[in-house]
Amino acid sequence: MDQKFLFALTKPGKNGGKFLHFTAVGYYFLLTFGVLFTCIHIVYPAITKNQDEKFWNIVYLSYIFFNMMGNYFMGLFFQSDLKTGIALADPPKSWIYCKECKQHSPPRSHHCSICNACILKHDHHCFFLCQCVGLKNQRYFIIYNFYVAIGSVFAARWLLLYLAEYYIPLQWTLYSIFSYFFPGFLYNWLFTEIPVTFSSALCMLVFYGCLTTGAGCFFLFITQCILVIRGQTLHEFLKNRHGFRQKWSKNIVNVFGSFLFIFASFLFPLPLKSNEEKSPWGLPNFYKYV
Ligand SMILES: [Zn+2]
Ligand SMILES: [Zn+2]
Repeated sequence: MDQKFLFALTKPGKNGGKFLHFTAVGYYFLLTFGVLFTCIHIVYPAITKNQDEKFWNIVYLSYIFFNMMGNYFMGLFFQSDLKTGIALADPPKSWIYCKECKQHSPPRSHHCSICNACILKHDHHCFFLCQCVGLKNQRYFIIYNFYVAIGSVFAARWLLLYLAEYYIPLQWTLYSIFSYFFPGFLYNWLFTEIPVTFSSALCMLVFYGCLTTGAGCFFLFITQCILVIRGQTLHEFLKNRHGFRQKWSKNIVNVFGSFLFIFASFLFPLPLKSNEEKSPWGLPNFYKYV
């Protein structure tokens, strides 16, 4: 893609600069509510054996949805940007000078041209969160990815059960495998007698959404966990820098607060402060240095 065009799409500003944010958030909400709708209104009534099974599956799905959304909105709410415009007279050696913001920023921070700000402990810019993942929202981002991956596997299993029952049985035959790919699905719909209903088409679409999104979020969850354990940001990992590395358990506690907090925040979306915010790469008390 043309570099200039890509920059215009991602650059914040008046002329559709937030196009990629809008698309990513739209896709996420469409898929989430698509999963809820197909599972609760199409799949569970058709597949579950009794009311009890249906009820408990709605409870599991709602629990995943609640944790996913809770962490998503906290990831949105807690921003890691630092825009002071203060250039320090005698900055600590580890601090960086950002030409864009015309300010000194703490170590591990990085300027994001999409957010147009320096981000504390910058990891990467997330189009789904419409902002950067950094010091204050990394923990929510990790748990959010975990629940999207879990929810995707959970929903995909039920969607497959429905398709096997009402579309084509899941078998290791060439025709069955072909039928579960889009061209095969289209072929069956247009040229065969196999009943392709609106419900099975919707289930197939949502199933593929779950598969791709779940795989992406699982990958992000694992890579973020590795970075947290190693005590690195993505930039530090790519440049093979270990300047802020501590013992693995201390690295984890730095991000999540404590082991009890990790356990609690994986069970329930909790807005907890981490130790990191008081660290040298956390939100600084600049006036001390000016
Ligand atoms: Zn900056
Ligand atoms: Zn950003």
